[in-house]
Amino acid sequence: MDHGRVKELLSDYIDGDLGEKERQDVEEHLERCKECCEEFEQLKKTVNVLSGFQELKAPKDFESKINDRLKKRVRRRDRDTTPLSHKVPFETICLIMLVMLIAFYIMLYLLPQMTSDEGFKQDKVPEKKEERDKKEEEERHERRVYRYSK
Ligand SMILES: [Zn+2]
Repeated sequence: MDHGRVKELLSDYIDGDLGEKERQDVEEHLERCKECCEEFEQLKKTVNVLSGFQELKAPKDFESKINDRLKKRVRRRDRDTTPLSHKVPFETICLIMLVMLIAFYIMLYLLPQMTSDEGFKQDKVPEKKEERDKKEEEERHERRVYRYSK
């Protein structure tokens, strides 16, 4: 039996669909031929994976079990009427109060300083612009002098 014929028969061989004679021929060839043997192993692995997938079907009561569990959880949540203050630790409340206090302090003392600082900056902006204009004028003048001297 040649390679091509054996490769054709491999999947049937794995499924056990071959006749006695063909099965023996394939087995004999596989013992002698490394190439076909490797292909056979590969095919066998693939078939195993595929049949594994088929076995992975969810059990019949899977869905009803999930539904039961969900219902239980919802019921538990309905029963749970503990007030929020019992769930949040005292330390967390203290921390929130502290943060609010700091924010209040920032609003009272730091924000006015920042706004007055901005006003100070605004006063300085025109001066800077004038300086820039002066520099540009000087550069233009230098360029003109350079051109005349050439
Ligand atoms: Zn072969």
